[in-house]
Amino acid sequence: MKELLMVKYAPEIFLKGLNKGSFERKLKKNIEKVLADVKYELITDSGRWFIYSENLEKVVEKVKKVFGIAEVCVVSQIERDFNLICEEALRQISDSGYKTFKVETNRANKSFPGTSQEISSKLGAYILSNIENIQVDVHNPECILNVEIREDAYVYSKRNKAVGGMPYETNGSTLLLLSGGIDSPVAGYLMARRGVKINAVYFHSHPYTSERAKDKVKELARLLKEYTGSLRLFIVPFTDIQMEIIEKCPDDELTIIMRRFMAAIANNLAEKHKIQSLTTGESIGQVASQTMEGLVVSSDAASIPIFRPLIAMDKVDIMDIARQIGTYETSILPYEDCCTIFVPKHPKTKPILGLIKNSESKLDVEKLINDSVENAEIIDI
Ligand code: ATP
Ligand code: MG
Repeated sequence: MKELLMVKYAPEIFLKGLNKGSFERKLKKNIEKVLADVKYELITDSGRWFIYSENLEKVVEKVKKVFGIAEVCVVSQIERDFNLICEEALRQISDSGYKTFKVETNRANKSFPGTSQEISSKLGAYILSNIENIQVDVHNPECILNVEIREDAYVYSKRNKAVGGMPYETNGSTLLLLSGGIDSPVAGYLMARRGVKINAVYFHSHPYTSERAKDKVKELARLLKEYTGSLRLFIVPFTDIQMEIIEKCPDDELTIIMRRFMAAIANNLAEKHKIQSLTTGESIGQVASQTMEGLVVSSDAASIPIFRPLIAMDKVDIMDIARQIGTYETSILPYEDCCTIFVPKHPKTKPILGLIKNSESKLDVEKLINDSVENAEIIDI
């Protein structure tokens, strides 16, 4: 008997028809990347992927985070023999102290005698006659004993949910507007999870925002990198622009004009670096600048699409995801943010595009944008 990891990938990949092969290849490469410092062997058995390693625990932890993988299970591999299957099943269940169970059989190898149903019943009966105080419960069992019959037989009773989604770098690219807050790292994670390659941009208002605020964003980028393998972060100097706006535009339009600059600069950077879209952590109604009117007016400043994966989510649910993915603790560290430093007392919640553009005509928008794009610092995390 040998223990190994069975990797089940997201069912959506099976729906990819002719593209399935390229999704699988990408997924395999991404697994190889996260396992670069582990000794292992990846093998396939009629469409299933298995990983052998001396250090299975570490492999489980790493592979669970690979986008496109739905589940990972530590399985026992044995010869395709019903008596050996019974023995192994008994070993797994009697160790665990479960009171109820059911057997699920997948008979991929049709040369094995009996239907899946018959194998499950026979194996269930064997377990019932060998363990006291255990019952079959087909609706809500404490333990599902899985048997897969392929070239070999595989028996397992514990399943680990993995991140799901689509293999990273199979669905284009986006530039994430990454602040130090709770929302934007979650937005980036959700896009990456759908296979979109993530780059990030942070608008830094030195000296109003400190070096530590910048470090916080770098740390958030590093945390996102644990899922993506690599990540490019652009740091854009934003102070001059903010000063110009404060000096020349009405106080209550400060936030919305700032947002439009962020969108326009990000748009510019994205085009320069062949990135196809923008992503923000905005959610409708969350703060004064995230009204429908505000979002419409800020969207107008970019010509490429702006994706807002959190748009219809409640803050508590966003916070839950932040905790799950490990960014929450860093996000709540108390450092200044460029948007909280220059907050007008009564920001416009229903900006009108024409009026905002009129205010912006007092600024040399093009030069301000080009200067900050030119002076952007590039950090490969
Ligand atoms: P977050 O928690 O992501 O900071 P928030 O709820 O604080 O979001 P805002 O501060 O209004 O909301 O920002 C809305 C979005 O604008 C952010 O999610 C982020 O995508 C972008 N953003 C805000 N400030 C910055 C910044 N300094 N650099 C890069 N992007 C920013
Ligand atoms: Mg913020």
